[in-house]
Amino acid sequence: MSLELESISVAFGGFKALDDVTISLKKAEIVGLIGPNGAGKTTCVNIITGFQDPTSGTVMLDGQDINAKAPYDIRRRGLARTFQAGRLFSGLDVLDNLAVTGVGLGHSRRASEDEALRVLSWMGAGHLAELPAAGLPYTDERRVGIARALMFAPDYLLLDEPAAGMSETEADDLAQIIRRIADELNCGVLLIEHNVGLVLSLSNHVYVLDAGKIIEEGDKTEILASQAVREAYLGA
Ligand code: ADP
Repeated sequence: MSLELESISVAFGGFKALDDVTISLKKAEIVGLIGPNGAGKTTCVNIITGFQDPTSGTVMLDGQDINAKAPYDIRRRGLARTFQAGRLFSGLDVLDNLAVTGVGLGHSRRASEDEALRVLSWMGAGHLAELPAAGLPYTDERRVGIARALMFAPDYLLLDEPAAGMSETEADDLAQIIRRIADELNCGVLLIEHNVGLVLSLSNHVYVLDAGKIIEEGDKTEILASQAVREAYLGA
């Protein structure tokens, strides 16, 4: 059971945003994707989640080709994502922000609220349930965004820069949650992050993207030892 990007290329006119990118993520695994600005990380997210079609290559989810499947269909097949900006419904409280997802999946309102509370408590965020989503502190908004993605009971979760704007302590708390999502929920996590330290400490395997190509992959030790990675990040 895995999510596989197989030789994905994406061209915008003559410009290759992704060039022959192959990435593999298994359930219960944390895989990191890092790279400087413009490397193609967001394009990868858009490909995986069905917001964009590749020029060539395939995306396989548990053995099924999900190229050209609609975003809602991909989510239904077990792949959820978070967004960089919270995208919460500002007129609703936190519990309802989660519960609407359950209702959208066809569960009753009552069952959806129960599930929303369960997910929030699991994340240590039960105290947020009755707060209005508008005006939540930034890190809480992030946590609610992850909780909402977990309402889909995903097999795979894409985290798009979840630690952006967080202090070191906040990022440590987030790291614990990510670890538990993989370990306790048996969920594969694709972690796309600017915080390279966080990615290296959490991930079983890391891919480094630069100018549309995977220039290096491996575990923490291999990435830290890579001259290509140093050059991509430091130009040295
Ligand atoms: P990252 O998320 O790593 O910063 P992106 O995936 O956003 O990188 O972008 C990769 C490259 O593709 C950038 O040079 C960007 O300008 C280009 N790009 C992304 N989307 C489009 C688009 N819709 N049309 C043209 N170029 C795009």
